[in-house]
Amino acid sequence: MIGVAVLGSTGSVGESTLDVLARHPQRFRLIAIAANSNAAKLAQQIRTWRPAYAALADEGAAAELRALLDGAAAGTRVLAGSGALEELALLPEVHCVMAAIVGAAGLRSTLAAARAGKRLLLANKESLVMAGSLLMAAVRASGATLLPIDSEHNAIFQCLPPRTAPGSAPAGLRRVLLTASGGPFRDLPREALAAVTPEAACAHPNWVMGRKISVDSATLMNKGLELIEACLLFGVAPSQVEILVHPQSIVHSLVEYVDGSVLAQLGSPDMRTPIAHALAWPERIDSGVEFLDLLKAGHLDFRAPDVERFRCLALAQAAARAGGLHPVVLNAANEVAVQAFLERRLNFPGIAAVIEAVMERVSRGAPDALADVLAADAEARQRARERIFGTTGTTRSESVRDAHA
Ligand code: NDP
Repeated sequence: MIGVAVLGSTGSVGESTLDVLARHPQRFRLIAIAANSNAAKLAQQIRTWRPAYAALADEGAAAELRALLDGAAAGTRVLAGSGALEELALLPEVHCVMAAIVGAAGLRSTLAAARAGKRLLLANKESLVMAGSLLMAAVRASGATLLPIDSEHNAIFQCLPPRTAPGSAPAGLRRVLLTASGGPFRDLPREALAAVTPEAACAHPNWVMGRKISVDSATLMNKGLELIEACLLFGVAPSQVEILVHPQSIVHSLVEYVDGSVLAQLGSPDMRTPIAHALAWPERIDSGVEFLDLLKAGHLDFRAPDVERFRCLALAQAAARAGGLHPVVLNAANEVAVQAFLERRLNFPGIAAVIEAVMERVSRGAPDALADVLAADAEARQRARERIFGTTGTTRSESVRDAHA
């Protein structure tokens, strides 16, 4: 039995992971689940799964969770606070950690799992974008097994030779071709983008995902974050990554070799495929995904992304080339701007404008330690808030968090 911890179990990737685990009760045991503040959903998951541990980062919500359970799940220890997530990642009975928390909040627990040498299923791309060199060094030092969950990176991983070392490109690899659906505003003229709503941005044409990554897909920042992620995971330069808009989301990405071969991974757009792949790797297990019918799909289209209309992608490409603290600043400014957009305090084109303004001033040098990353992250968030709300403003979710603290 493989012991699994699902960090971010109440989210879209978290729920898909539980769905795959439920199909294989003889193979996996769910040891721990964790989320931020959704006490009702976590209580429901505890009643269904009876894990040994459950945690909520928000202490007030954890108290609510204990009240909701009212002694009904005596076998589950409920932990509270952001430190609890790291504790769960380190449990000796946990062999496999699904890192599915959204945003920078997932960084510490992801790093903890890497340092502890766990099998790390990495969905939380922001931790890699922020602290890529630290995370990859931790994986190499501990011998952790790093398996990408992002469908594109999971596809690339599947197209690489077996036993390719994490962070290094195999001999003969020429390029990586990263596909992008183009998001819900793929064909919208630039003038119309100022009026788009958070609801429209979150209505992705092919994938069902959390709100933050849905907005990132709509701005194409998601593809920019994935470009940075690909460079770190597979040891390629930004110039070796070509981004292709592929509206059908059937070809999840491709790898080109020097002999002219191009290998691709295809499948229905459903996160349960990469999740099942990573859970069972190197074996294959049933994921519950609808099998691909290429005749029904009919045709597969590819085109270049429009970086004039979708400035976030150009900003991320620049950050990938610059390296150092640039990706940290990019990610932090993006998280603040996306939250402000979701709260209707910033319009859609404003997301790129805020990031661009914050990116104008980035300290030189590469982060040597987590403290450098966290300092650059905090400073960039502050500058993004100042830009959006004036000197003392916060997003509503931050005000709530500060009130709880
Ligand atoms: P969701 O918004 O659906 O879920 C986010 C999860 O993170 C929830 O469980 C949430 O808990 C938890 N969380 C949020 N903030 C904190 C915090 N401060 N401390 C602890 N837990 C927290 O996101 P997704 O599942 O869509 O995405 C998760 C990650 O996976 C992201 O990094 C995303 O980029 C990546 N990813 C997602 C894909 C998808 O298809 N959804 C595809 C590829 C990558 P609560 O419910 O309590 O708020």
